[in-house]
Amino acid sequence: MAEEPTARTTESIAFRSALDVIRGVEPRVADAIGAELADQRESLKLIASENYASPAVLLAMGNWFSDKYAEGTVGRRFYAGCRNVDTVEALAAEHAREIFGAAHAYVQPHSGIDANLVAFWAVLSQRVESPALHKAGVRQVNDLTEADWSALRRELGNQRMLGMSLDAGGHLTHGFRPNISGKMFDQRSYGTDPATGLVDYDALRESAREFRPLIIIAGYSAYPRLVNFRIMREIADEVGATLMVDMAHFAGLVAGKVLTGDFDPVPHAQIVTTTTHKSLRGPRGGMVLCDSELAEHVDRGCPMVLGGPLPHVMAAKAVALAEARQPGFHDYARRIVDNSQALAEGLLKRGARLVTGGTDNHIVLLDVSGYGLTGRQAEAALLDSGIVTNRNSVPQDPNGAWYTSGIRLGTPALTTRGLGTAEMDEIAALIDTVLAATAPGTGADGKPSKAKYALDAAVAQQVAGRATDLLAGFPLYPGIDLS
Ligand SMILES: *Cc1c(COP(=O)(O)O)cnc(C)c1O
Repeated sequence: MAEEPTARTTESIAFRSALDVIRGVEPRVADAIGAELADQRESLKLIASENYASPAVLLAMGNWFSDKYAEGTVGRRFYAGCRNVDTVEALAAEHAREIFGAAHAYVQPHSGIDANLVAFWAVLSQRVESPALHKAGVRQVNDLTEADWSALRRELGNQRMLGMSLDAGGHLTHGFRPNISGKMFDQRSYGTDPATGLVDYDALRESAREFRPLIIIAGYSAYPRLVNFRIMREIADEVGATLMVDMAHFAGLVAGKVLTGDFDPVPHAQIVTTTTHKSLRGPRGGMVLCDSELAEHVDRGCPMVLGGPLPHVMAAKAVALAEARQPGFHDYARRIVDNSQALAEGLLKRGARLVTGGTDNHIVLLDVSGYGLTGRQAEAALLDSGIVTNRNSVPQDPNGAWYTSGIRLGTPALTTRGLGTAEMDEIAALIDTVLAATAPGTGADGKPSKAKYALDAAVAQQVAGRATDLLAGFPLYPGIDLS
């Protein structure tokens, strides 16, 4: 009897074959890769910084581009034989310039943190180093006298930066002491208005006038509203600062033209950094966009602060950016925000408390103190119920950055999976059910604990079951069957 033809798609064949090759060398790695797909398929992922890259993006990373050294820039390499690397790096940069309307794009940074370091040093190079070289009448640092070099080094290490505070949603790399940016710069923070939860531009302006920073940095990881970059630039211009925007989280919303006008950072900031793997849905990586005056300084990112470029990741960036130029990406970005707003409404109507009372982007920041819980307790109870989130501080958080009072929710990943506003309302109900069924625990000393909690096991089981059912209707990577 003839065999039934098996329904293997091209994607299934590609990934199965890749795993077979890996299995021939180290089967445990092949198994872990397969298990990771299974885990991702089963988890209701509301981590605001995560997404699911397409099969094309994933495959563009696994090849011999990984073997090439390509220090330098397109057409100007320190290594021979970079013609194909030039092709993919130039393509990724071109797509990025077109999507974002930027004068220049540098696609070598390995991550968002690396992109920020490249940007900081580009601004320091443009605004501190270049004038010093000019004043000394030399072309490069090697030509400075010992005394001039020593003076320049002190000056490079003595600049000021104004960045959003961590509890308002800012990022550790925006000048905070545990990060190298906080050791490089004398940093002052701006925050949000306690009454509205929104960025307080008047206070920011006051602070900038007094502090006179070299850099004002905007951008966030946990702010559920829009930032007006036109106002930010006005303030920066008034005090002679360079405006840098870190759009790591919301680059997908900019690419998808949901954030336009005053809310699109690219026309307003001199320099913009991003990750490529969050809402932009590409490979893990970073990118810097800038105006033409900063371009030559940004292009020195490697070897200034970056290790050698990763050509296989640049190839995947080119693929992801090509995807982001397709009309469907606009629709995707729109649905991210629709879903986030539906999730927020679903929570609000069940009595939950949200930081700023709602959302304009992909983030919902749930203040769980209304349930009598810390962020850590809420995060753990939700995880027990099959819902993956992360705890996050809220403005003026009484529980600090470790235990916190908030849960950050984000919709880019579930939107990629195809879930819509009806599902978001149901997820809001599940979250509310779990948190209402969770009680804070007591420590060994009999005092209230910020970590221990008691969750009704029947509720956890019922919610996890419901989450599984919900996801079953929206298969992740439907074209890939590894069985
Ligand atoms: C995620 C994030 C980063 C860091 O990105 P990595 O790729 O993890 O280095 C930097 N800035 C902001 C605002 C972020 O949200």
